Amino acid sequence: MNDPRPLPITRDLVLLGGGHAHALVLKKWAMAPLPGARVTLVNPQAKAPYTGMLPGFVAGHYQRRDLDIDLVRLARQAGARLIIDCAIGIDTEAKRIQLQARPDIGYDTLSIDIGITSALTDLPGAAEHLIPAKPLGPFADAWTTLIDDARKTGQAPKVAILGGGVAGVELALAMAHRLSETNLPGDIRLIEAEDTILRESNASARRKLRAELDRARVEIIANANVTVLSGAGVQLRSEQDLIPANFIVSAAGAAPHAWLADTSLDLENGYVAVDKTLRSINTPNVFATGDCAHMVHAPRPKAGVFAVRQAPVLFENLRAHLSDRPLRRFSPQRSYLKLISTGRKSAVTDKWGIGLAGKSIWRLKDRIDQAFMEQFRHATEMSVADLPQDRAAGLDELYEDHANQCGACGAKVSQAVLIDGLEVAPDTPLDDAAIVANGDQVQVFSTDHLRAFNSDAYLLAKIAAIHALGDIWAMGATPNTVLSQIILPPLSPDKQSDMIREITAGAAEVFDACGTRIAGGHTSSGAELTVGFSIAGELERAPITHAGAAPGDVLVLTKPIGTGVALAGEMRQLADGDDYCAAIASMSRLQARASGLLREHATALTDITGFGLAGHLLNILEASGVSARLDLAHVPLLDGALQLAEAGIRSTLWPSNAARAANMTLTQSARSDLLFDPQTCGGLLATLPAASSEDVFSAFASVNEPIWKIGDITQGDPHILVQ
Ligand SMILES: Cc1cc2nc3c(=O)[nH]c(=O)nc-3n(C[C@H](O)[C@H](O)[C@H](O)COP(=O)(O)OP(=O)(O)OC[C@H]3O[C@@H](n4cnc5c(N)ncnc54)[C@H](O)[C@@H]3O)c2cc1C
Repeated sequence: MNDPRPLPITRDLVLLGGGHAHALVLKKWAMAPLPGARVTLVNPQAKAPYTGMLPGFVAGHYQRRDLDIDLVRLARQAGARLIIDCAIGIDTEAKRIQLQARPDIGYDTLSIDIGITSALTDLPGAAEHLIPAKPLGPFADAWTTLIDDARKTGQAPKVAILGGGVAGVELALAMAHRLSETNLPGDIRLIEAEDTILRESNASARRKLRAELDRARVEIIANANVTVLSGAGVQLRSEQDLIPANFIVSAAGAAPHAWLADTSLDLENGYVAVDKTLRSINTPNVFATGDCAHMVHAPRPKAGVFAVRQAPVLFENLRAHLSDRPLRRFSPQRSYLKLISTGRKSAVTDKWGIGLAGKSIWRLKDRIDQAFMEQFRHATEMSVADLPQDRAAGLDELYEDHANQCGACGAKVSQAVLIDGLEVAPDTPLDDAAIVANGDQVQVFSTDHLRAFNSDAYLLAKIAAIHALGDIWAMGATPNTVLSQIILPPLSPDKQSDMIREITAGAAEVFDACGTRIAGGHTSSGAELTVGFSIAGELERAPITHAGAAPGDVLVLTKPIGTGVALAGEMRQLADGDDYCAAIASMSRLQARASGLLREHATALTDITGFGLAGHLLNILEASGVSARLDLAHVPLLDGALQLAEAGIRSTLWPSNAARAANMTLTQSARSDLLFDPQTCGGLLATLPAASSEDVFSAFASVNEPIWKIGDITQGDPHILVQ
């Protein structure tokens, strides 16, 4: 008999850092996951830039998206949990990782690929004035800002690069090219502590690169003893020698992440010492690769090529370790071909004492780099299991939708199904929460749960808590009692306890901020993670229902819309990683303050959830017996939502929401389709008397709480005119 239940998770593999080796491990994991093992990737940003193409980006030959590996997409392909955060410690005894912005996480097997930081960051003035070449993401952002500012002001930048090795030279040439192409021929100075630059390159490559530096008018300052960095530039030891600069870059070599020294891992000069299997020499369940590791059996310079070559062995060894099998040996090559770009589309080789140069070398480098990145640029087909030969009628029509069903609010049943199932009249007002009077005291009660849209239980709990609170805030009430309902996915008992801890921590963060806490609940195990909360709220005044909107009222909204397409797009690997994270940040924003500010004035109030902006507005119009005019151009959208809508992405619930267009006058477009996009933790939608709306806007502005005017209430039957 076939058992369709998912297998329990028994082992946790954590990949710390989205470096090159881990990106490749995830790619392989997507092809061959290990049943029973859960993978978590931790990285401070949603994207990890590929170094090979950084100089080409600086020179203007590539766009930022060309060199970014989208970790959100990669994690989805690999079925991995992605945590956007920065590790600040590892307790190897307890097998836990401390993170900067959220509670620690556990692991059974840990792999570290966090790269390096740049040297010289401890120079006086560095914190304010030095832009390290590593990590690459912030460096690339700073360069883009410099170019944009220079374009706006017409002022050529003055650049100082500390470090005359290959990285410094390559960056200097790339910057010189970009500035001359932008008609801003700024000053570029390469500052080297020793008496000569490019000491590690062969003589032929060095000659060619020096000729390129001369051509590009990059000034070389050797034997420089940098003492202080300031807004004016780089101060050398001699008092008179101030090198003017408004963009100071460190390319002076590698420095290990300082926090590694506080772990009990054996280090070599600050780098994690690993054996021939890439495993820590003193902690057998910890692996390290790339620049942050030091291979004791075969020390090599810090270069991306080694991280890339280590990836297949790391992949196999992580799987072997998770399944108690023997590990493989990694034997690094002795030397490697360096291809150094020279700003314009040409490059120089450096290997075996030979330095070839020219456009064909650039084309070769471009081909190699593009082939590397091509692995990460596309969505992969997620296979849907074939249906069995014998099956009941009707299954074929539902199967694909079922297999691709959205999580969070996209999994809500439609309003039509609810009305049918609950056997209520179609025009029955369904308010956000039940209002229960007990003597003088009036309370509101609501319950809500979310089917997991990813496997991060802490994040899901936070979002489910905010989502459930939406109904309480929408009634103008203050939450006072919370009960949880949790369904855990199949897990071993220790992982169950861990997940409950994560859920409790995520929920507590939200409820603590609202002055309440979980009083009890119920937890069971099932097919997939689901987290919900039942909440009671206290009313200090009459509840604000859907029913009070009056002609002349102003219609306002407190969050941009588009979470439905963001989640659906992410599931289909089509959402941009940064946009997806911005959508998560928007969902994670509490509405307690917004509710408090609207309370005194709102004539009708609701939170936008599964039925979308149009559906929830229609609910207000039906309950109030009025019509509305909606300014489509003024409805705020999450970044990337329109692009996803234009690409045809729709949430599972969208078609039934869109059926309510029958009560609307609108010209269909991708933008207007977003009015039916189901929202998870959507904003509050309120109607305000025109006379008090300016006061409300000022109150929101004074506490930096966003609010948008999106239309007005008009006289007439329940109907939305979209303009
Ligand atoms: C200008 C320049 C040009 C270069 N060109 C080349 C080249 O052409 N060829 C070559 O082989 N090498 C090149 N290198 C060297 C190359 O950049 C590195 O060797 C390579 O990036 C190392 O890869 P990695 O996997 O170790 O880590 P990285 O690619 O550095 O990735 C580390 C990741 O870990 C994340 N991270 C950092 N700290 C934490 C933390 N505490 N918690 C969680 N995540 C964390 C970072 O954000 C990053 O995403 C160049 C370097 C520079 C500066």
